[in-house]
Amino acid sequence: MSELINVAEIFGKNVFNETVMREYLPKGVFKKLKKTIEDGAELDPSIADVVAHAMKDWAIRHGATHYTHWFQPLTGVTAEKHDSFISAPNTEGKVIMEFSGKELIKGEPDASSFPSGGLRATFEARGYTAWDCTSPAFIREDALGVTLCIPTAFCSYRGEALDQKTPLLRSMQAIDRQSLRILRLFGNTTSKRVVPSVGPEQEYFLVDRAKYLQRKDLIYAGRTLFGAMPPKGQELEDHYFGAIRERIGAFMNEVNQELWKVGVTAKTQHNEVAPAQHELAPIYDEVNVAVDHNQMVMETLKKVAGRHGMTCLLHEKPFAGVNGSGKHNNWSLISDDGINLLNPGDTPHENIQFLLVLACVLKAVDKHADLLRESASDVGNDHRLGANEAPPAIISIFLGEQLEDVINQLCSTGEATHSKKGGKLLTGVATLPDLDKDATDRNRTSPFAFTGNKFEFRMVGSADSIAPPNVVLNTIVAEAFKEVADELEKAEDFDTAVHDMIKGLLAEHRRIIFNGNGYSDAWVEEAEKRGLPNIRSMVDAIPALTTDKAVKLYEEFGVFTRAELESRAEVEYEAYAKAINIEARTMIDMAGKQIIPAVIRYTTRLAESLGTVKAACPEADTSVQAELLVETSALLSDMKVALAALTDVTEECLVVSDACACAHAYHDKVVPAMEALRAPADKLEMIVDKELWPFPSYGDLIFEV
Ligand code: ADP
Ligand code: MG
Repeated sequence: MSELINVAEIFGKNVFNETVMREYLPKGVFKKLKKTIEDGAELDPSIADVVAHAMKDWAIRHGATHYTHWFQPLTGVTAEKHDSFISAPNTEGKVIMEFSGKELIKGEPDASSFPSGGLRATFEARGYTAWDCTSPAFIREDALGVTLCIPTAFCSYRGEALDQKTPLLRSMQAIDRQSLRILRLFGNTTSKRVVPSVGPEQEYFLVDRAKYLQRKDLIYAGRTLFGAMPPKGQELEDHYFGAIRERIGAFMNEVNQELWKVGVTAKTQHNEVAPAQHELAPIYDEVNVAVDHNQMVMETLKKVAGRHGMTCLLHEKPFAGVNGSGKHNNWSLISDDGINLLNPGDTPHENIQFLLVLACVLKAVDKHADLLRESASDVGNDHRLGANEAPPAIISIFLGEQLEDVINQLCSTGEATHSKKGGKLLTGVATLPDLDKDATDRNRTSPFAFTGNKFEFRMVGSADSIAPPNVVLNTIVAEAFKEVADELEKAEDFDTAVHDMIKGLLAEHRRIIFNGNGYSDAWVEEAEKRGLPNIRSMVDAIPALTTDKAVKLYEEFGVFTRAELESRAEVEYEAYAKAINIEARTMIDMAGKQIIPAVIRYTTRLAESLGTVKAACPEADTSVQAELLVETSALLSDMKVALAALTDVTEECLVVSDACACAHAYHDKVVPAMEALRAPADKLEMIVDKELWPFPSYGDLIFEV
C-alpha cells in the first residue's frame, strides 16, 4: 500500500498563489499585484522588487537554490536557463541570496539557438523573457534540486513573438474585449472580463524503459518506425477503462501528487483504447494557465515514468495499427462573474444571447477552418488525422440533436418555438434509479463537438502545445463577435436585428454542421460537395498561416503581424523536414546495422541447417528450410533496394535550401520511401527467429508494461 495522502494539504503547496502572496507581501503591494493580475494590466515597476523579494524568501524557505524564467519557444517543449540566487561573496567570503525585481520581470537568454523562422538574424540575437504574472510562479522539486519557475513570454529585441505564450495573451485580450461587447448588447453592465476556459485531456503511452532503450526509433523519433502487428491488438476493446494495473497505478499516483503540489488539478485518469495507452485530464482553467499546466503535465508524465522504470511516449502515433494519442481541447468563454457564454440553459430556443454566440462560433469555424486545421498539425499528427480512428482532417461541427433542431426551426420557419428534452433513461432494473438523459448523445467522430456548455476540439496532437489552437479559437471568435457587435450596436430595433442576424448567420454557415459519422468515406464526398476543405497533411496545412485572410484577421486583433506569421510558417516547414530527416536516418541506421545483419544471420542458419540435414539424411524433407530461405532472401533483397532508395532521397532532400520546398520534398519523396523500407522489414519480423530479431516487438512493448 502506498502511504495515505491528504490532497487538501499538498494541493498548491509549491505555488506562489494568492494565499502565499497575502502572507508574504505587504498589504498595499498585494492589492496592486492582484489588481494587475485581474485586470491583465502592466505591472507597476515600483512593486517589482518587493514581489521578487517575497518570492525569493518563499522559494528559499522551500529549499530553492535556483530560479528560472520558464518559457515556451517554438520547439514544442519548454525552455529554461537556471540561475542560482547567490551573489558574489563579500569580503568575509559569505554569499547572500539575491533576486531583484528586474530579474523577476525580465530575462535575457541568448536566443539565437531558438527557432525564429528568420525573424531574428544572428547579429541581433537578443531575446527577452517577460514575466506573465497571470500564470503563477511555482517551485519544482527534482534531481536538480528545488527551482523557482517563473512563467514568462519570450520576444525578440523588437518585440516580435518568438513563443507560444505571447500570441496567446494577445488573443485573450481580443476575445475579452469583443465578448464584453456581446454581453453589453444584452444589457449586462456588470461583467468586467471574459476569459476562455480550457480543459485539455492528455493521452499518452507507457512502455518499459529497458525495452525502450533497445529501440533506436523510440529513442530518436519517439515512435516505432518498424514493427509487425502482434497477434492481439486492441480488437477486444478490453483495455479502454479497464482496471489499472499496479505498476501503472503507482505511476499515476505519483503523477497526481506531483501535479497537485504545483497546482495542477489532475482529476480524471483511465486506460485508453490501445493497450498501454492512458489518459489524464485536469479540471479546466483560464486558458493561459491551462496551456502552462499542460506543459507541466507532459513534463511530469515523462519524469515520473522514468522513476518507475518506464518511458512515457507522447507521440501521436507511437505504434502503427493501434490507436494514436490526441489531446481534446475543451473550450468555453466565462466571465469574471461566472457567466458561461456557451451555456444554452434548459431552453436554448429562448436563449437569444446563446444562439447569437453559437452562430458566431459556426461562422468563425466555417470561415477559418483552414486555420484551425493548421493549428492542430504537427509531424506526428499526420498519422492520425484522416486515418480511421481520429477525427477526419475535415473540420465540421457536431451540435447534437437538440441544437440542430433549434437551428432547423429557425432556418425553416424563422422562429424557434421549442427545445427537445433529454427525458429519462430507463434502466429497466427496479433497483437502479432512472437517470436524467442529456438532450444530446455524444459523437466521437467529430473534430469539433458541442458538449453541453463547451466546444471540444479533438484534433490536437498529444505531443503538441495547446496554445496554437486556442490562439485560433480566441481570435476567430473575436472576429465574428466584432462583426456582429458592429452591426447590432447601431441597430434601432435590437430584437428584430438580432433575430435576423442569427437567422442569416445560421443559413450562411450551416454547411459546417455535421452530425453523422465523420470516419465514413461518404462524409469525405459530402464535405467536398459542401466546399469544406480537406487538408490531408501538415505541409498542406501550413500555407493557411499566411493567406491574406489570416493576415487580415491576426493584424486586426493585434495577435500576429505578417512577419510573425511568415516566421511561424517557416519554423513549421523546418520542423517538419527535420523530423522526417531524423526518422529516415534512424530507419537507415536500424535497417543497415540491425535488421539486415539479423536476417543474414537467420538465412545463414537456414542454409547451414539445410546442408546439415541433407548430409545426415539425404531423403529427409528440407523443403521448409528451402522455402523459408527463398522467401527470406527475396524480402532481404527488397529491403536492400528500399534502403538504398531511402538513403538516396534523404540525401537529395538535405540540400534543398528553401524551407517550404524542402518540407514538401520530405513529404512527397522520403515518407513513401520510408514506407517502402518498412514493408519488407515487417514481413521479415514475422518470419525470422524471435531470438535473432534485434529489438523488442510490438507485443513486447505494448502488452508487457
Ligand atoms: P469527457 O469529454 O470525457 O466527457 P469531461 O466532460 O469531464 O470529459 O470534460 C473534459 C474536460 O473538459 C475536463 O478537463 C473538464 O474540466 C473540461 N471542461 C468541463 N467544462 C468545461 C468548460 N465549461 N469549459 C472548458 N472546459 C471544460
Ligand atoms: Mg472529451
